[in-house]
This record gives sequence, structure tokens and C-alpha cells, in this order.
Amino acid sequence: MNTKTIVMTLAVCCTAVSSFSYAQQRAAGPVVIQGAMPVEAERFAQRLDNPQEVEIGGWRFWRGTVDGYPVIVSETLKGMSNSSAATAIAATQFHPVAIINQGTAGGHDPALKVYDIVLGKYSVNLGAFKSPKKAVGEGSDSLQWKPMDLLASKGSAGEDKTPHTIRKFPADAQLLAVAESVKAGYKKGSVVEGVIGSADMWNSELDRISHFHHSYQTSVEEMETASAAQIAAAFDIPFIGIRILSNNITNQGKYDPQTGLACQDYVYQVVKAYIAKIQTH
Ligand code: SAH
Repeated sequence: MNTKTIVMTLAVCCTAVSSFSYAQQRAAGPVVIQGAMPVEAERFAQRLDNPQEVEIGGWRFWRGTVDGYPVIVSETLKGMSNSSAATAIAATQFHPVAIINQGTAGGHDPALKVYDIVLGKYSVNLGAFKSPKKAVGEGSDSLQWKPMDLLASKGSAGEDKTPHTIRKFPADAQLLAVAESVKAGYKKGSVVEGVIGSADMWNSELDRISHFHHSYQTSVEEMETASAAQIAAAFDIPFIGIRILSNNITNQGKYDPQTGLACQDYVYQVVKAYIAKIQTH
């Protein structure tokens, strides 16, 4: 064996060992449930058995169990930066077996009503775009902006020639199947599979909402799922976003903060079903 081969063999062994032990740690790891606001997290935290509150940086976590299995509720706080940081903290501190990001959202699809629930088959970042060049006085039109894939290019994002398709952060297939499996028990609205769009933005321009719905198939918008999904994927942690409509201006659906409680109740059933499934394997 020459030196190069020895170094390569060692590198392969070490990678295998470290990813094996990481996967092992994760196999018995907790399910993490994320909610941005107190009204989106505290109810779930109250349903944990033997809850213990932990504060890390500016973020609150409640560790406890559901049906004897470890579950951690994470209050991510609002927006893309907060939710990505909370996800990275959860990943490195707790080695979760899965992460569910849940909470309220605004409708993009006129067919969806307040209290309907969207199981995010994937999420997209609605805050990453490139504008066309326009001279002074030519104005600004966000409907002309093209998606910018923040993960694709090593060069200048403004100059890269990657196709203008939006990056999708997919849900884990098993989590999606489990989330589907409990929908018959939900009586406050429909439960559908759909696309969750996220940005540090509250859109109230109906033309812009319609553009997102038609160009990127968004069912709802909110401010956390795509960033949490991106970070969960970087740690290879199974992930799903589950969002309830708290408002939908495309069909005059008035904002109702109580929807945040109904979403946690739905996700509680998802977690019970998921735990039952992973414990039998
Ligand atoms: N009411 C505040 C904004 C609240 S942020 C204001 O107007 O200043 C709203 C939170 O609920 C975010 O965490 C986001 O994920 C979610 N949300 C609910 N409906 C939303 C919508 N229509 N657009 C964006 N975020 C929404």
C-alpha cells in the first residue's frame, strides 16, 4: 500500500465510523416538534409527560416524553434566521430521529379554508430571488423576479447561469405517510398534501400571491419551514412541515389565532403514530 492509499483508506474508515455513530445516536434520538410562537408551541409542551424546560441561547426547548418515547418541543421564534438556528441547535444538541415544523400559515390556494391543514410534500424559499436589470426610473416589479438557488452555485449568485427553477426541500416519505394516516381523525377542516412557501415576508398583494401559487404551486406561506427543512437536510434528519391555515386573503378567510392550537393537536396525533411505527421497527 502506498501512502496515498493508506491515507484514503483511513479517511474512508473514519468517515464510516463517525457517520455510523451519528446514525446510532440518532436512532434512539427524540422527535423534535418546532413551533415559532408561544401559541404554536406551548400547547404541545403542556402535553409532554415529565416536561423539563431548557434554554439554549435565545431559544426555549421542552424535553419530555410521549408514550414513553423522548420528544422535544422547540420554540424556534419567528422567521427564517431564527428557525434555521433553532434547527441547527436541535440537530447538534439532541440528535433527533425526526423534525416536524408546524404552525400557522396564510393561504395561497383559494380552495383552502381557515383550519385546513397542509402536509408539506415539499417547501420552497420565497425570499431568494434575482431581479432583472432595470435602469434608474424603470421601477421594480417582483413578478419578474426569478428564483435564486442559494445552494447551487459557488460563484456569484447574481451572475450564475443555473436554470430558474425553484429548489424544493422534500418531506421525508415515512413522515408524510404517517401524517396522512391520521387525517380521518381531524374534524375541523380538510387535510391535504401541498407546497409550503417560506420567507421573512407577509404577503398581502393578491397578484403576488397568485403568481407564487401558479409559478411554484404554493398552497400556503409562512416564515420558517423552508429554512428549517434546509438545515435538517444538511444534517440528514428526516423532516416534514405541517401547517394550518390561520388566514387566507384569496377567499376572505379571516385570521384566527386559535388555529395554532388545532395544528398542535393534529401534530400530536402524528407524533403518536410515528412513535408507534419506529418502536415496532
Ligand atoms: N402579525 C404580525 C406578523 C406575525 S408573523 C405582523 O403583522 O406584524 C406570523 C407568524 O405566523 C410567522 O411565524 C409565520 O410563520 C406565520 N404566518 C401565518 N400567516 C402568515 C402569512 N399570511 N404570511 C406569513 N406568515 C404567516
